[in-house]
Amino acid sequence: MSLSGWGRYPVESCHVFRPEKRSEVAATLASGLQSSYIARGLGRSYGDAALNENAGVMWQVLLNRFLSFDHSTGVLECESGASLAEIIEYFLPRGWFLPVTPGTKFVTMGGAIAADIHGKNHHKEGSFSNFILDFRLLTPSGEVLLCSPDAHADIFWATVGGMGLTGIILNARLRLRQVDSAYVFVDFHKAPNLEDALETMDASDERYDYSVAWIDGIATGKTMGRSILMRGNHAPAAELPARLRKSHPANGNSQSGVRNDLSIPTHPRWNLFMDFPSGALNRLTVKAFNTAYYAVHHTVPRELVGFEKFFYPLDAINQWNRMYGKRGFVQYQIALPQASGRAGLRTILDRLARSGRASFLAVLKRFGDAGGGLLSFPMRGYTLALDIPAARGLVPFLHELDRMTLDHGGRIYLAKDAALQAGDFAAMYPRLESFRAIQRKLDPNRVFSSSMARRLRIVD
Ligand SMILES: Cc1cc2nc3c(=O)[nH]c(=O)nc-3n(C[C@H](O)[C@H](O)[C@H](O)COP(=O)(O)OP(=O)(O)OC[C@H]3O[C@@H](n4cnc5c(N)ncnc54)[C@H](O)[C@@H]3O)c2cc1C
Repeated sequence: MSLSGWGRYPVESCHVFRPEKRSEVAATLASGLQSSYIARGLGRSYGDAALNENAGVMWQVLLNRFLSFDHSTGVLECESGASLAEIIEYFLPRGWFLPVTPGTKFVTMGGAIAADIHGKNHHKEGSFSNFILDFRLLTPSGEVLLCSPDAHADIFWATVGGMGLTGIILNARLRLRQVDSAYVFVDFHKAPNLEDALETMDASDERYDYSVAWIDGIATGKTMGRSILMRGNHAPAAELPARLRKSHPANGNSQSGVRNDLSIPTHPRWNLFMDFPSGALNRLTVKAFNTAYYAVHHTVPRELVGFEKFFYPLDAINQWNRMYGKRGFVQYQIALPQASGRAGLRTILDRLARSGRASFLAVLKRFGDAGGGLLSFPMRGYTLALDIPAARGLVPFLHELDRMTLDHGGRIYLAKDAALQAGDFAAMYPRLESFRAIQRKLDPNRVFSSSMARRLRIVD
């Protein structure tokens, strides 16, 4: 079937398998029907990470069972196709939330580990792998290995962030975090330019669990990089207004473990039933949107916001990626080190503004320290994500941005990438050779591959 990532660029023909049992995953691999295989979760990576042109794609979404939960430690064991949405749906009413979450909840446990995802709390908590106790990995030889920071540690650190190239994660144990409510107290800060946004983040992010900024990717001159900073902490139940503080005769745990005092906000959801015409999101429409968005937001302290609205604003519209039309779009996400980050951000934003291209969704945040994943993306500094519609000249333009990113010591996020070149990739990921050495030993016959792996020569 024809498959793409979330950006709908590129679209490729792949042979798709949908195992319903973990044993079927191994049987499919052993059958040798396809020249190679790659795992796929909910296809929320933007480019070609979960594509394998003319070869096998192992769709994991039917393997979504919860296997065990320890109420005293919050450790959940589940199959790798379980989505973060499913985890929240069951566990939030019981007072547990994800320790790290991306900007959409429609991501699987396997996809979250393979990309070693980061959230709005990276500056404090690091990335997803910090909360993974262990996972079972189906390796190319058919053996299942229990991997953790202590057991097969080299394979553990090659698999987190390893984009599915060491094998298929069958199930994993994740430590959830306890929360007292499904709300966040958010401080909004309106920053008139990039300097103010970065100064404010640097000076005060440590006071917040979560921090992120919407950034105007079109503003130039004195207002370049103007932003709306949104920084928040989980709201304690005792500080919620009375209308949200559910009291119940039991006022504690019901037999199912559901907390009767935990109020979960509900939000309407919309569907985008058809593609917008390509080019609908152009410089003019995006400029109008950005001007209005910046105008309606103000510096406001302690606004109470429901978790969906704070963590997953885009999930309110199913298939919002159709806004970019049939040609699709790319998300260009870079990480830049602290020392050269500011100069790098200015260079990239200035080039984008002069390019005539428009980024509808642009997000800026600070990263904490890098983790142990050999191909994990975050590094201490800043990250900028830009959505750019696919149009003529896009790829050479992205290559130009890649050079600028490299010149500032930065790197591209593989989970978003669709256009990077192999040489630039190798220069951006200094631990690539260590990854390759482990991967080569595990997979001498190249059972696992993907379109991204071939484009970037990740497994050489
Ligand atoms: C709106 C939106 C917002 C996002 N925000 C963020 C963000 O804030 N932070 C962030 O880090 N990311 C973010 N992402 C990216 C997303 O979190 C990652 O791309 C994630 O990997 C997607 O998971 P998935 O289940 O859809 O995996 P897929 O996209 O299907 O696959 C991604 C990679 O994981 C591998 N994989 C999947 N399942 C397995 C498995 N069982 N075993 C081994 N490998 C596997 C695939 O081979 C592939 O290489 C966002 C994406 C969207 C669409």
